[in-house]
Amino acid sequence: MSEEKKIPYKIYLDETEIPKAWYNVRADMKNKPAPLLNPATMKPMTAEELSEVFCKELVEQELDNENAYIEIPQEIRDFYKMYRPAPLVRAYCLEEKLQTPAKIYYKFEGNNTSGSHKLNSAIAQAYYAKNQGLKGVTTETGAGQWGTALSMACSYLDLDCKVYMVKVSYEQKPFRREVMRVYGASVTPSPSMETEIGKKINAEHPGTTGSLGCAISEAVEVAVKNPGYRYVLGSVLNQVLLHQSVIGLETKAALDKYNVTPDIIIGCAGGGSNLGGLISPFMGEKLRGEKDYRFIAVEPASCPSFTRGKFAYDFADTGMVCPLAKMYTLGSDFIPSANHAGGLRYHGMSPVLSQLYDDGLIEAVTAKQTDVFEAAETFARVEGILPAPESSHAIKVAIDEALKCKETGEEKTIVFGLSGTGYFDMVAYEKFHDGQMDDYIPTDEELAKYAAKLPKID
Ligand SMILES: *Cc1c(COP(=O)(O)O)cnc(C)c1O
Repeated sequence: MSEEKKIPYKIYLDETEIPKAWYNVRADMKNKPAPLLNPATMKPMTAEELSEVFCKELVEQELDNENAYIEIPQEIRDFYKMYRPAPLVRAYCLEEKLQTPAKIYYKFEGNNTSGSHKLNSAIAQAYYAKNQGLKGVTTETGAGQWGTALSMACSYLDLDCKVYMVKVSYEQKPFRREVMRVYGASVTPSPSMETEIGKKINAEHPGTTGSLGCAISEAVEVAVKNPGYRYVLGSVLNQVLLHQSVIGLETKAALDKYNVTPDIIIGCAGGGSNLGGLISPFMGEKLRGEKDYRFIAVEPASCPSFTRGKFAYDFADTGMVCPLAKMYTLGSDFIPSANHAGGLRYHGMSPVLSQLYDDGLIEAVTAKQTDVFEAAETFARVEGILPAPESSHAIKVAIDEALKCKETGEEKTIVFGLSGTGYFDMVAYEKFHDGQMDDYIPTDEELAKYAAKLPKID
């Protein structure tokens, strides 16, 4: 026990220990993720076709299934120094509260103004856009974290940033919107009347409050129509998981310092980027047969892509202009019930994680909304940090696993990703406190209706 206490409450690395290369887990996967398909031809997207939408260097990263390490340019590492390395915290107070023999650690990614891990990929994507001599980038944002992260990265590099924000969030989250404007981004509620697809959606669904899939279609249209602009996406894509591997590489470096080997690694999964980034280097060891770990993805019961979706090619957006991806999906026009899992409401899942899940290398579980907020409060009261509702899905399952250890007496080591802070989610916390939060779970019939509309490919 006394030896045990030698592990500090926070394991900090110093800035020279920020990774010098991202780790590309695809290099070690036997079954590679399926290629993106061109929606017009249903053939794999070539680098040339992808370059019309994405920056050149990012296209190379997107298609690279071979190189295990990709160097992080010095300029990006310099930006990372502003808020990284992120601390790995030993949750002594939570362990005490739960009276569990389990050892719990969390990697905290909320230590920057945008409040989440998304900045790790935003700066990389903005950097390559700048390097290519572009004027600016377009994107969508739902809850607002990605738009905020991208605005910060773009202002740092003096790039124009156009954000299409799902209308309901635009109206309900004015503070997020203003943070983006502080960093110089233009923020347009989606669907707008500025794009063809926006006009079409507004005509077909008057008064609609928008969706992520719809905002993506608008952002892509604007990027393709404006010379000097490209579209960037905050999750799901292979390149985003690659950038997020800094989370896992730092976590592993910190644990290695104290010879700690995790048994279970847990993360919330929306599009899969924070989970994918956290587990990548550990998954690499598992794939190479060096070590074994349990990986658990936690998704909201209201948007259960892994646990109740189909592994199939699907559209990434409502307008069906983006490439198709083979992934666990609920169908591109699935719209989850109004809930507060914010960034976990996307219909699909990263193709890399989808393949790993299909190969039985990752487990997935769902968590109900009120259980998630209960776990969030248990955590906040002892560890101090106000967690994002998304991250709290991971907290919930980490607590569950720690309580199982209490029953069995096993001293397992649990690591989870605390992907961000919840300061902009106080309306959700308010609903929880006032007993006005519900736990809607879609029925099998509802899900079957959307699944029946998946594109038929082969
Ligand atoms: C966006 C977001 C997520 C979900 O996205 P992933 O790509 O699945 O990581 C999770 N947590 C926070 C705090 C977010 O902002």
